[in-house]
Amino acid sequence: MQIAKHKVVSIHYTLKDNAGNTLDSSEGRSPLVYMQGVGNLISGMEEGLEGKAKGDKLQIKVSPEKGYGVRDERLLQKVPRSAFGSQEVRKGMQFRAETEGGPQVVTVTEVGLESVTVDGNHPLAGVELNFSVEVMDVRNATTEEISHGHVHGPGGHQH
Ligand code: ZN
Repeated sequence: MQIAKHKVVSIHYTLKDNAGNTLDSSEGRSPLVYMQGVGNLISGMEEGLEGKAKGDKLQIKVSPEKGYGVRDERLLQKVPRSAFGSQEVRKGMQFRAETEGGPQVVTVTEVGLESVTVDGNHPLAGVELNFSVEVMDVRNATTEEISHGHVHGPGGHQH
């Protein structure tokens, strides 16, 4: 069975940046289970996996445009230190912030006495992604899974 829209796919993957640093991996965990063609994964991954089958091993290089987006410097923002109240603020910390575009995770990039600089870009925005993937399983989705737009059972939603 080949990977196509609405197939439920299990993969093991390792993600590296161009310098060879491992950013994420399913090694030692259960495989990642997702439904193809409904936006569960970044589009570059879905494109690379389309048509593949159980047992296939492949490399997928994903550009920022088809990954976590290009960096947008307008998402760098200075906010008053007081906005964090008595909470400790350190560089690298992540917070959920309410913005005009809805809730967003921001990363602290600079802490000053009066102000804190936060970055609303995804941590992997602007990064070329190099995936090593092994397809562990491909199955048909149930009609319920298709109507929900996600996978049920092991590795998926439990509800
Ligand atoms: Zn569901």
